[in-house]
Amino acid sequence: MESQARVVIIGGGVVGCSILFHLVKMGWKDTVLLERNELTSGSSWHAAGQIHTISSDPNISRLQGYTINLYKELEELSGQSVGMHATGGFYAASNKDWYDYLKRERSKARYMGLDQEFISIKELAERHPLIDTSSYVAALWDPLDGDIDPSGVTYAYAKAAKKLGGRYHTHSQVIETNQRKDGSWDVVTKEGTIHAEHIVNAGGLWAREVGHLSGLNLPVQPMEHHYLITEAIPQIVEREERLPAGIDYEGNIYFRQEGQGMLLGTYEPKATPWMVGGTPNDFGHELLEPQLDHIAERLELGFERIPALADAGIKDMINGPFTFGPDGNPMIGPVPGMRNYWTAVGVMAGFCQAGGVGKCLAEWMIDGEPEIDVWAMDIARFGDYASPDYGTIKSSENYERRFVMTFPNETLPKGRRMRTTALYDRLTALGAVWGDGFGLETALWFADGPDDAHEEPTFGRSRAHNYVARECQAVREAVGFTEIANFAKHSIKGPDARKFLDTIMAGRVPQPGRINLSPMLTHKGKLYGDLTIACFADDDFMIFGSGAAQEMHRRWFESHMDGYDIQYANESRRYHGIGLSGPNARELLSRITRDDVSNEGLKFRDIRRTFIGTVPATLLRLSFSGELGFEIYVEPEYQLKLYEEILEAGKDLGLTHYGLRTLMSLRLEKNWGAWTLEFRPDFTAAQSGLDVFINWDKDFIGKEAAQQERDTGPTIKLVTMTIDTDDIDVTLDEAILKDGECVGYITSGGYAHHVQKSMALGYVPANMAADGTALEVEINGEMYPARVVGEPLYDPDGEKMRT
Ligand SMILES: Cc1cc2nc3c(=O)[nH]c(=O)nc-3n(C[C@H](O)[C@H](O)[C@H](O)COP(=O)(O)OP(=O)(O)OC[C@H]3O[C@@H](n4cnc5c(N)ncnc54)[C@H](O)[C@@H]3O)c2cc1C
Repeated sequence: MESQARVVIIGGGVVGCSILFHLVKMGWKDTVLLERNELTSGSSWHAAGQIHTISSDPNISRLQGYTINLYKELEELSGQSVGMHATGGFYAASNKDWYDYLKRERSKARYMGLDQEFISIKELAERHPLIDTSSYVAALWDPLDGDIDPSGVTYAYAKAAKKLGGRYHTHSQVIETNQRKDGSWDVVTKEGTIHAEHIVNAGGLWAREVGHLSGLNLPVQPMEHHYLITEAIPQIVEREERLPAGIDYEGNIYFRQEGQGMLLGTYEPKATPWMVGGTPNDFGHELLEPQLDHIAERLELGFERIPALADAGIKDMINGPFTFGPDGNPMIGPVPGMRNYWTAVGVMAGFCQAGGVGKCLAEWMIDGEPEIDVWAMDIARFGDYASPDYGTIKSSENYERRFVMTFPNETLPKGRRMRTTALYDRLTALGAVWGDGFGLETALWFADGPDDAHEEPTFGRSRAHNYVARECQAVREAVGFTEIANFAKHSIKGPDARKFLDTIMAGRVPQPGRINLSPMLTHKGKLYGDLTIACFADDDFMIFGSGAAQEMHRRWFESHMDGYDIQYANESRRYHGIGLSGPNARELLSRITRDDVSNEGLKFRDIRRTFIGTVPATLLRLSFSGELGFEIYVEPEYQLKLYEEILEAGKDLGLTHYGLRTLMSLRLEKNWGAWTLEFRPDFTAAQSGLDVFINWDKDFIGKEAAQQERDTGPTIKLVTMTIDTDDIDVTLDEAILKDGECVGYITSGGYAHHVQKSMALGYVPANMAADGTALEVEINGEMYPARVVGEPLYDPDGEKMRT
């Protein structure tokens, strides 16, 4: 075994082997994979091998498309058959909701260039004559779907990597990972030690144990999973053509042809987490005892949908474990707070996803950033609230919901109240309907008391619509109160603080007492943050940003700090906030502070440390609602006191509580985007319009790329649109069309209550971004006329928030 390598990958399942292949293919030849047993000794060898592109996240779907399209090349490169059957596959809906869901998937696929189409039920029956189609109302066809041989695929990655110069060692279990002071690693096996610059945890079923070697607790959990294989079925024996693959959502089953019989798998209603305390070291090529009673009900349904199965003998019943993450998506990337430690864990559909995971991770390691936004897979989307127990609870929920629809307005019940603020009980008593983000409960909207605090999951407008309208009105006409504990606060202090921020931020770094908005760019000029920089003093700054992205931003700050005399701290939990917005906000505030909060005493974009009511606070004059607005941050133990004082002072001013939904509605009529939606690494400053905040007179990360785009002009641009609808709004990822051609997709939208219009934001070709351009948006399969609005429909000059 060699003693030195640039990268050591731990784990020779499909994921580790794909990473090896991609790193070597992209030029990092000095990469070694270590496998404790033979390759495919975890979950990879007993997978059902079904492949498909549909995923909740469009970029994951795109990467699934990439994975499937890679198989042919892989086979040619490696000389190893991957056993691919490109049969095509269908997704069957047996009720209107599932039909709507499929229409939405179809809409997403349009823009991703995935070739999905609806086929008639008659056609479905022709393509898969073994199915009783009587319970289906629609079927979506995807020509990319089919099946592969799991071991063949894994070996094909490994052999192709070897041909390109990569290396792997089997029977080489990693027993220690020890970090040196310079951030490099000693990877210890009984066969020898490799000193490596980077390590990658691709431990699959043992991801937790591999993590523990470096002190990392990962919230992933192996789950038991069943599928069965039948004996030969006469109708299949007689056929020349192979049957297509299928997924029946309502029935919670997937199926495909296997040999001359069929394979049928199911996600049972009650998940069985496997080895909660840890995966045994000696587990390898074993299977688990089938638990027939767990799946009997689902099998019965499967037999109803495919009657031929009822007469077929069962050849094999597989129960094998595979690993899930808390939201069902992989957890990949550099681990925040660690140096040169990468994960590719929780990949629950490895044969659909490992190609994409390998590609993104290799780009990230070599180029410093993946080609597309991988937020939905980024390990930094979780924080320390994602404990091992949380991982087990959420992974189980996810397993059970694998084929259960989650509506756009639905929040999932498990693993809730991980993080709450001092106001939680008070706001609950008032009727808050809660959502969670980064483990923190945040009020979405306020019902009339706790008994009224419920919402039906729907693709349409829910009962919350009218309550949100009421909240919007209060903000526009009186004063609204909202809790803003969910924003991230990053403290950057020290003699080089300004110098550091000048480099890392593309925008102007403000003077003491002032605030500026700034994009943060990657080296390739992609958006990596839309942040609010606040300056208390030249050596004391606070950066406000997305709460969900706090670990991602922390990782970015920490990885660029070398050589600067600064101290960084994520202070998101140290300050919880309250936002006041509306024409009466100043009057309210003036009643509880001795500060002069007039337009002269506290200008738009001022910040100061002061006292509000009786408590020490940081006061900012800002607005995300488009109204006169203030944000007040206090240490958590002061939040309740501040709240009570605000309530008392606002009694006669029309003070009304409002939630996140109202904030997201109000910003629509201001044409303002939001992080993770409009603003994310898929887009650049010029495309998003955030280039207006760039300070071109200084050097900053991403300047060269941003300048190039300034010279050539962006090819796509973010636009705001009104949509002619009566009772439905966009949510996310709907296709935007022009003259019948898909030209872009929706990044967010909803109903703008004050201007009473359905509105949306999305990216379209730059020549379609002009005010008034007529477009169409597809919602649940229907086309609705849309029109670009260049100027905000509410207060276009921004006077309300500035005076
Ligand atoms: C019953 C079943 C059906 C499935 N069906 C499908 C399907 O139809 N389609 C699909 O896409 N996916 C399917 N999957 C999921 C798929 O199998 C997994 O997503 C995939 O195998 C994950 O691969 P991995 O490389 O992350 O993990 P693993 O396959 O578990 O690989 C991890 C590897 O790391 C090695 N390792 C662990 N610790 C160490 C150490 N300390 N040192 C060195 N090596 C170590 C292990 O020996 C193992 O080989 C199915 C899974 C099951 C169980």
